Amino acid sequence: MDKAKISGERALEFVKQFEHIREAGTAGERSAAEKIRGYLENQVLGSIVCAGADGRAKEDQASGIVIRQEPFSFIEQEIQEARLIVTEPYEKEYTVTGCGGCGSTPPEGVEAPFLYVENSDEISLSYARGRIVLINGIVRRELYRELVRAGAAGFVMLSGTPLDEGEDLRPARRKVRGLEETPIQGVTVHYKDAAELVEQGASRARLVLRQRQVTRTSQNLVVRIQGTDRAQEILTVSAHYDSVPEGPGAYDNMAGAAIVMELCRYFTLHRPRRTMEFLWFGAEEKGLLGSLDYVCRHREELAAHRFNMNVDLAGQTVGGTVIGLAGEPEVCRILQAYAREAGMGVSFKNQIWGSDSNSFAWKGIPAMTLNRDGFGMHTRHDTVDLLSAWSLERSCRLLAMIAERLAQAEVFPFDRKVPKKFLEELEQYFEK
Ligand SMILES: [Zn+2]
Repeated sequence: MDKAKISGERALEFVKQFEHIREAGTAGERSAAEKIRGYLENQVLGSIVCAGADGRAKEDQASGIVIRQEPFSFIEQEIQEARLIVTEPYEKEYTVTGCGGCGSTPPEGVEAPFLYVENSDEISLSYARGRIVLINGIVRRELYRELVRAGAAGFVMLSGTPLDEGEDLRPARRKVRGLEETPIQGVTVHYKDAAELVEQGASRARLVLRQRQVTRTSQNLVVRIQGTDRAQEILTVSAHYDSVPEGPGAYDNMAGAAIVMELCRYFTLHRPRRTMEFLWFGAEEKGLLGSLDYVCRHREELAAHRFNMNVDLAGQTVGGTVIGLAGEPEVCRILQAYAREAGMGVSFKNQIWGSDSNSFAWKGIPAMTLNRDGFGMHTRHDTVDLLSAWSLERSCRLLAMIAERLAQAEVFPFDRKVPKKFLEELEQYFEK
């Protein structure tokens, strides 16, 4: 295989090495970081650079290529006990998962009347006071606060579909982020159990939730290629390599990690005029924690950053190509011209995007996420079986064209500017 050429086959082989769950802060994520690092050292950088085994950056002065491993810690809620027991008019305990981030009930739990409030509209919620409420949907911070205002005693949300069988009947693991106060607690039940609760007329229940804070460690991997004659300007190409605990995340997002690897290889052999950093972020699924650590750790240098090219969701055979761009509309037109040159169809969405590109945009750096529409994200069905070399190669080529044009341009083609409305949305998005 020609080392200097982009290869979808090679990207697919790369993804196949990671058919395991890589939840941030667990051994699965750590071993994935080690594998990525090993692949970089043995298959990509080879003799160009040999990184120190102690985890510190080691630079080969002659090559101008550095590999770094950047560990960071984060706090997580570990669920110790979660139960939902209907006590009237029948007695039954349901399988539930605890909702993280919303504190603990007393050890014996909370017992209260039970009520289905559908979409938690204003009228339904006016009956919520003192009740454990079942909600048709997902409780996020805003809804949590509404439930507290309505005086609910607890909440039950649902996940899944009426078609699920077997393993898929397990309720999803969810959490509410960014709560300062946690006066009420909640759990998730499967759709089929939610239907039973309503049909059987559950009218009283006991809810138990106990959780505690634990500190975990994740890590980012970075390869920096020093630019030749525009080295003072920095471009980043990034993807997260962690997964959710529900599945092995081939599409979300080992495929993205493989695309970044292909581009990294390409630029070691076609040296860029601008400095480039290739980033494999940990803990994206925990709330973009890897990229947030990166923009914080390197804040002194962010003024030199011109653009972030992130990939999240990639490689499935059937799907559409989308670029979400947090930047001036003009940047969409520029990228569209590159896509046309590459002969790749892509639709643009000029908006912020729920992935690591947001951390850059929040700091005023224009940022994009290359995304492929697809199936099964955050489920056990997100496996390499739905991926293909053909799809990976197309995304690699598209991103390589964009990166190449931007890395080699005589004058960088757009300003380091993020529209005010996006910055405002990002303030909200990252509200702690
Ligand atoms: Zn993702």
